Amino acid sequence: MEGIDKALAPFFELIFLAYPDPLFVVSVEGGDYHYRAVNDAYLRHAGLSLEEVLSRRVVDVLPPAARPYLLGKFAEALKAKRSIVYEVSAPEGRTFEAVISPIVTPEGDCPYLLGSLMDITPRKRAEAELEFARFHDGVTGLPNRFSLRQRLAEALIHAESLDQSVMLLVLDLDRFKPLNETLGHPMADRLLCQVAVRLQAALPLGGTVARLDGDEFGVLAFGDAQDAEALAQRLQEVFSLPFMVDGHEVYLTASIGVGRFPADAQNPDALMRCAGVALDRAKQERNAYCLYHLGLSEDTTDRLVLGHKLRHALERHELTVHYQPQVCLESGRIFGAEALIRWHHPQLGMISPAKFIPLAEECGLIVPITEWVMRAACLQQRCWAQEGLGDVRMSVNLSGRHFKRQNLAELVKRVLAETSIPPTCLDLELTESILMDNVEASAEVMQELSRIGILFSVDDFGTGYSSLSYLQRFPLHTLKVDQSFVRGITSGEDGAPITSAIIAMAHSLGMKVIAEGVETRAQLDFLRERRCDGYQGYYFSRPVPAEEFGALLRAAHKV
Ligand code: C2E
Ligand code: MG
Ligand code: MG
Repeated sequence: MEGIDKALAPFFELIFLAYPDPLFVVSVEGGDYHYRAVNDAYLRHAGLSLEEVLSRRVVDVLPPAARPYLLGKFAEALKAKRSIVYEVSAPEGRTFEAVISPIVTPEGDCPYLLGSLMDITPRKRAEAELEFARFHDGVTGLPNRFSLRQRLAEALIHAESLDQSVMLLVLDLDRFKPLNETLGHPMADRLLCQVAVRLQAALPLGGTVARLDGDEFGVLAFGDAQDAEALAQRLQEVFSLPFMVDGHEVYLTASIGVGRFPADAQNPDALMRCAGVALDRAKQERNAYCLYHLGLSEDTTDRLVLGHKLRHALERHELTVHYQPQVCLESGRIFGAEALIRWHHPQLGMISPAKFIPLAEECGLIVPITEWVMRAACLQQRCWAQEGLGDVRMSVNLSGRHFKRQNLAELVKRVLAETSIPPTCLDLELTESILMDNVEASAEVMQELSRIGILFSVDDFGTGYSSLSYLQRFPLHTLKVDQSFVRGITSGEDGAPITSAIIAMAHSLGMKVIAEGVETRAQLDFLRERRCDGYQGYYFSRPVPAEEFGALLRAAHKV
């Protein structure tokens, strides 16, 4: 025997017996096998004594359920005359890798088989964990995007053969990012786990819920458009009750986009895209769901074309500013003006800011547009002051983009320097979502500008998610009560108590209150009674061009 030191021969038995992994040798006698040698590790593994093993046939020692499989491997090795590797399950979830090798004589006979076992439980566990991680999300334990994509592919094949419909709902938590920052990641993760549990409970039979990304979940289920709508509503209802995280009550809402097979798309990727397009639309409204339809994609192209046109609008003087008077409730005097942008497109006509401001934000035009509006408003303010019409306070609307890597302070100071109006005549309007989305950045810039005298107002107050403790972090001068509450003052809805509460709260924090969208005398009376400071709305005047506003000021000055 080559490669073996003959001096070792007397020790082979010892080497065999002391080998750390279980080893056994069986003799082949027809279709039967008998143990001929086993080492200590094997006895420990089998839980038997040497006598018990050597006095029995292999078939009597093996667990009955495993016999066909294991003896099959023995036969396979003998037939192939080579080693066969296979896995053996043992009690307590352990797994062994077994190698059974025929011992072949120079004549070509196989009188014995040598078997070895190796405990590979740790490796198998690691593999299983890796496999789980590949298909699941580490935070919630839900299937991940990859896994959902796979299940979607299977579902489509299944649905096609049975002539069924499949729906894919993509759900995005509204305003999760600022919440994540406020709560901190460990708490936000626990919140996501609770969302996962609730979503799972709302699933129809055979449905799948997966976590796709940060605050995005995917739900796969069978059913038609009606089922999709019902499911979208059910998933939204999941959020009607607050979540409790570490003793804090957290309210969440979700936007949902729905894509359907075969109505909208015929393959998994296209279906994911459709649900994504529908989600984008739903997110514009927040706490809404949207079923995909072809118009949505066209809308995207529409927006692209409009974006190009907007780029030229500034250069071609298609933009103008209208001014809406802000009136003191006590004296009835105009003390301020809100600058509201208008776009007159030569072919498309008047385009609403509600439509093109979001577009300007998307295509990076909001900063030059704001600077243009601010400059126009400040120049106008100076004109009226020079004409002896008094210092009208100018309110300019800001977008959240100004707090994301844009130097707002520099922009404001530049405009003030160019137009030389008193800083206290410039009021910047921000919405709650702008404040909440950029707490640190906005507080810092606002403090800097507030120090030089600039005023800040919260626009559309009451529609966002800000809390009192948040508001106190910002140097705010005025709260503007959202139109929806003002409208609700006289319509028997909750408008009256909410408006009263906002006024009282703002005053207790030392802030002024302006009511927006005042259209009737009754609303005005209510506001006066509640000691609201100012108002604006169609009741007094719509937003008007600068000349008309000048006329209003002149008329007031003659009185
Ligand atoms: P906003 O800042 O809350 O402005 C008030 C909106 O309510 C204006 O709509 C105004 O025309 C309208 N409004 C005023 N009084 C009444 C009323 O009595 N009844 C009703 N039904 N509506 C009234 P507008 O001008 O269409 O502007 C819509 C939004 O577009 C503004 O809401 C503001 O968020 C945004 N926006 C307008 N101009 C600018 C701008 O220069 N920059 C930025 N970033 N956003 C702007
Ligand atoms: Mg405004
Ligand atoms: Mg407003």
